[in-house]
Amino acid sequence: MGLFALPDELEALRAAARRLAETEIASHAVDADRDATFPWASFEAYRDSGLVRAIYPEHLGGDGGGALAYAVLVEEVARVCGSSSLFVLISRLGVTPIVEHASDALAGAVVPRVAVGEWQASYCLSEPEAGSDVASMTTRAIRDGDHYVLDGRKSWITNAGISDVYTVFAKTDPAAGSRGISAFVVPRDTPGFTIGKLEHKMGMRGSPTGELVLEGAVVPADHLIGAEGQGFAYAMGALDTSRPIVGAQAVGLAQGALDAAARYVTQRRQFGRAIAEFQGLQFMLADMATQVEAARTLVYRACSMVDAGGPTVSKVSAMAKLFASDTAMRVTTDAVQVLGGAGYTTEFPVERMMRDAKVTQIYEGTNQIQRVVVGRRLLDEVTT
Ligand SMILES: Cc1cc2nc3c(=O)[nH]c(=O)nc-3n(C[C@H](O)[C@H](O)[C@H](O)COP(=O)(O)OP(=O)(O)OC[C@H]3O[C@@H](n4cnc5c(N)ncnc54)[C@H](O)[C@@H]3O)c2cc1C
Repeated sequence: MGLFALPDELEALRAAARRLAETEIASHAVDADRDATFPWASFEAYRDSGLVRAIYPEHLGGDGGGALAYAVLVEEVARVCGSSSLFVLISRLGVTPIVEHASDALAGAVVPRVAVGEWQASYCLSEPEAGSDVASMTTRAIRDGDHYVLDGRKSWITNAGISDVYTVFAKTDPAAGSRGISAFVVPRDTPGFTIGKLEHKMGMRGSPTGELVLEGAVVPADHLIGAEGQGFAYAMGALDTSRPIVGAQAVGLAQGALDAAARYVTQRRQFGRAIAEFQGLQFMLADMATQVEAARTLVYRACSMVDAGGPTVSKVSAMAKLFASDTAMRVTTDAVQVLGGAGYTTEFPVERMMRDAKVTQIYEGTNQIQRVVVGRRLLDEVTT
């Protein structure tokens, strides 16, 4: 194993994930996208394969894989179906604050069920008026004896209505700004909690995105994750470890589009020969492949820094998400171009991958916000 090669157990995980993706997930991708329906058959195959456990800690019922394992799994699923890669990603992100900060009792009640795919989880930070500026959220949580009462709206929530459990960030002390935010576990059947409108989206159409409505939603006080006032730090910490995984999702989408383009050029003939023979297309494919490899390398580097548990991974995580998602947008757009008119139709997966790739530049912080993070850290480093 060289310095930049993955260890054997991660290559074995990749092989298993690719097998599952190609045999059980790819075949549902078109329907999920066209009908905007959650691909339950794909989720159930993922759950039943046992691969779901790969990315949860051993003491909470998982196989103990770290960020690199998580990246490989998401990448391989995204290579065939972006929407399905989102169910792999979002449950893990949803429980990250619980894994990292909740009491043993709360973590033990939630995470083992998510780790075997019995439950799914969502991560609920954004609001209609608080997107990039999440600290300006207005959802309130007020302590009332041995309960908290939650009121407000969360927006853009991935797998709203599908998930069984929701990690919700809300203000316990509005005067304290970002230090007045706390995190709660809100089960799907909580009184006063309903799913609001679902969005009609360009891509990732097999993953519902919707609003949570909290109207006097009552959760037991022991559903507070960690300490009051720490929610913003928990939310940002979870994003620091998840952004490279959005990068992995982007790499998977780009790889899927590149593979489809490379296959197509060997089959399509114009001017009496396979279009693969035209150097103009070979150069495009060479640039696409080089960009995908560079993005993958940065994503894995960020993941290995997450796994090493260094002091701060914010900068490299933001770089990985930024670079990989911009790469995915470019490579999937070029893949459509390589296929010509065929690329513009739903006969081929590349237009879906292009639409799916777009959101990787937007969620978990837009790429402008990633540049803000990178710029700030960079300047902190030179001034300290
Ligand atoms: C499909 C989908 C799924 C999502 N899933 C989730 C989820 O599961 N949980 C969740 O909590 N959220 C989720 N989100 C929300 C997502 O994280 C936000 O959309 C994102 O953070 C941007 O917020 P906004 O949409 O309010 O855009 P805005 O913040 O209104 O941004 C609008 C524009 O202004 C730019 N901008 C804003 N501030 C700055 C700045 N300081 N400098 C430069 N430019 C700036 C932005 O980059 C953007 O181009 C999801 C979004 C989508 C589309």
